[in-house]
Amino acid sequence: MKKRHSPLALMLLCVLLGVAAPAVAKKPARPDAAPAAVPDAPALGEAAKSALAKVNNRVAHIDTNGLKALLQAKPETVVIDVRNPEELTLLGGYIGTAYFYNIPRGQLEFQIDTFVADKKRPVVVYSNYNQRSPLAAGALMQLGYTNVKNYADGFFAWKRAGLPVKYADKALDSFLYSKPQEVIPGVWSAIGATAPQTYENSGHNNNLSFVITEDGVLVMNGGANYLLAQSLHEEIKKLTKQPVKYVVLENAQSHAIMGAGYWKAQGAIIIAHKDAAHVIQQDGDKLLEATRARLRDKAFKTEVVMPDRVFEDKLELKLGSWKFEVLHLGPAHSPGDIMVWVPEKKLVISGDMAFHERMLPLFDDTNTAAWIKTWDRFEALGAQTIIPGHGRPTTIAEVTKYTKDYLVYLRAKVAEVIKNGGSLQDVYKVDQSPYAHLDTYDELARVNAGMVFRAMEFE
Ligand SMILES: [Zn+2]
Repeated sequence: MKKRHSPLALMLLCVLLGVAAPAVAKKPARPDAAPAAVPDAPALGEAAKSALAKVNNRVAHIDTNGLKALLQAKPETVVIDVRNPEELTLLGGYIGTAYFYNIPRGQLEFQIDTFVADKKRPVVVYSNYNQRSPLAAGALMQLGYTNVKNYADGFFAWKRAGLPVKYADKALDSFLYSKPQEVIPGVWSAIGATAPQTYENSGHNNNLSFVITEDGVLVMNGGANYLLAQSLHEEIKKLTKQPVKYVVLENAQSHAIMGAGYWKAQGAIIIAHKDAAHVIQQDGDKLLEATRARLRDKAFKTEVVMPDRVFEDKLELKLGSWKFEVLHLGPAHSPGDIMVWVPEKKLVISGDMAFHERMLPLFDDTNTAAWIKTWDRFEALGAQTIIPGHGRPTTIAEVTKYTKDYLVYLRAKVAEVIKNGGSLQDVYKVDQSPYAHLDTYDELARVNAGMVFRAMEFE
């Protein structure tokens, strides 16, 4: 498992950003990433609301005009951006002032005295929304800082007012859990975390793959949010000048669809199965809500968008010399499962049809009997390289072992329990030890057994 920021790296980053604040504001090298309209702040639970209300009562607040005046009157004022470093890179910069530091909210108490030794010095803290910053101001007051203000309007108000903004010189960080790796010439995949989507992994817990052709790029999966999609695009731009023309959504799960809005804004055509489109239409808002609850500020700019092109069984695409078949071979893991098949390279980007490193998950609407049938068609493609939905690229033998063979195994075990008049409790105890080494085994093995039991009772 990879750790993304060491405290040292963060510290370095802060120092970098702190000193990278020359008096002459440079023209931004990067296109302005700030949105025209700022989405509402993520909703807060009752406990968070009351914590914020309490701290808001005891900290001093300052608005945009107030901060502008303060920086003119007291240029020694320290301005602290409490967002994570990647937000400064990806969200259009930071407040341009002489004494600026980026100290993420979680590091504030530990790092503040290395940046601001004098506790009487004027300090202003800010973030995107007025959520982290009042807490940051409160924390500084508790540490004995006597001249602290919360810039309540936040970064985007500052930027919209046309006040000085600086930019990180280059992408300092990324929402990607891992950088893309070349699987076969022209085909790349950024492997996601094995854990569920968390704030830490920025929702990158599935594979985000792309194919670079002479006439544009095809991307498999929109990614779990707007900024993650943008991070992937930054990596693609390092490899090619070709535009991203197609984005294929492997199904309607949030880590496949939530970043699609970013791609749509770049002019890419979003492709999905018609069943996935139906789920997006029905449940998109709920999925967005869950994304925002999970990823908070990292869900910034994430919206639900509908696919531009839907299909039923097969969609053929040509880009340069590459021929792609986008296929729905039948029911498998979830509604509208599709894959990208490149016959000439014997490569399939299989989506969640195929699992091998983590235990496959079963849902209420997963039909395991149908998945096994669909598998035969999948195997018949004759793929030599498989980029699955999760985990490293592999072979058909490997995914067969942990997808079809597992389904057959589990169904046989459950059938035995049913035959012997056993209950759900008995089914939880069936032996799945041959699969115990798989990631997510602890979370999923019993759940899967229960799902199969409930389905097989009616078969
Ligand atoms: Zn998945």
